[in-house]
Amino acid sequence: MKLSIKDLDLKGKRVFVRVDFNVPLEDGVVGDDTRVRGALPTIEYARGQGARVILASHLGRPKGERAEKYSLRPVAAHLSKLLGGEVAFAEDCVGEAARAKVDALNDGDVALLENLRFHAEEEKNDEAFARELASLCDGLYVNDAFGAAHRAHASTAGITKHVGQAAAGLLMQKELDYLGRVINNPEHPFVAILGGAKVSDKIAVIEALIERRVDKLLIGGAMAYTFFKAEGFTVGKSLVEDDKLQTARDIKERALAAGVELLLPTDHQVVDSYEPLKSKKTIPIEFTNAGLVGLDIGVETVAHFARALADARTIIWNGPMGVFEEKELGFDEGTIGVARAVAEAADRGATVIVGGGDSVAAITQAGVADRITHISTGGGATLEFLAGDELPGVAALNDK
Ligand code: AMP
Repeated sequence: MKLSIKDLDLKGKRVFVRVDFNVPLEDGVVGDDTRVRGALPTIEYARGQGARVILASHLGRPKGERAEKYSLRPVAAHLSKLLGGEVAFAEDCVGEAARAKVDALNDGDVALLENLRFHAEEEKNDEAFARELASLCDGLYVNDAFGAAHRAHASTAGITKHVGQAAAGLLMQKELDYLGRVINNPEHPFVAILGGAKVSDKIAVIEALIERRVDKLLIGGAMAYTFFKAEGFTVGKSLVEDDKLQTARDIKERALAAGVELLLPTDHQVVDSYEPLKSKKTIPIEFTNAGLVGLDIGVETVAHFARALADARTIIWNGPMGVFEEKELGFDEGTIGVARAVAEAADRGATVIVGGGDSVAAITQAGVADRITHISTGGGATLEFLAGDELPGVAALNDK
């Protein structure tokens, strides 16, 4: 059990809180602010305890250089609105600019530091940089950035060596709690739905799930084509990982040996040509010819997957069923259909956990977010955790 923010004595202390404010910005305005809202309980708790709260995050991939489009300034403005009080913004995360803003904080005040990744030292987990970050606080560190916990960076790992106490924030705790329960003690029937582009990203998770006796494994998205090709089906020009055909066969065999039901799509939406988009239609998988590209699962598959969820008590879902994000092309129906199906399962009492950018976006787009048990803020971190890996950002926290 990791130390919690609730175990810290925060009154009058400067506390360094690593948050995940890696949000989409459109013309300097925060788009989807789910991640900012996710950190509010921790921020509000710390303020309520009379802490001086120093928030730090990364945003995008500025590759170690200052770049205005990755500035966290708009996020500070947005957070001010959410908190109903001014959030100070420091032009840099270290040095004089940071020090001045932090020194000006009174008990209950909040400051946001500029993007950590404007310094290459952040991703290198540089010791001196980590020490500099730590020097801003009074030996108290809180990590609430679950989505960044699978990376050993200065603000997620290195910094913990230079503070007195390193604890989990409330969002971090919630993530560990829900995801931990799923892998350690799932209520059966336990069903996992995986999608997205690559089998290779998900091998470790699939293996861990089989080992943990998942009852059904539903696979959609481009991933499914690697399984189909491995079986000798024609997949046309659909996205396949040719170097993972044997892996797909091994997974299938393991699933069979462990009594795990592996479900693949029965139909899919295909086109003759993706660019330009031509001759969109839905066909059974076995009708696929060499000229076709599969870009989404079909309605029959959505129904087939929904039936597989009928008696589920625990469901995890990660990865889209098709080329979900290009909305104008209309290959989001399968993913939206699955979003509705998992929400219905949740209504029937199943514990439903959804992670990964596209699946979470589908849940929001389908308007079912409030019916889902837990929407994980992690993508890669969620997958690594479910695969049973210890996340460096979690390992670095003190035990209770
Ligand atoms: P991942 O990052 O592995 O979760 O994969 C997400 C990506 O998979 C999204 O960008 C989807 O567009 C892509 N994807 C899902 N299904 C397909 C498909 N049938 N063909 C090509 N790309 C797909």
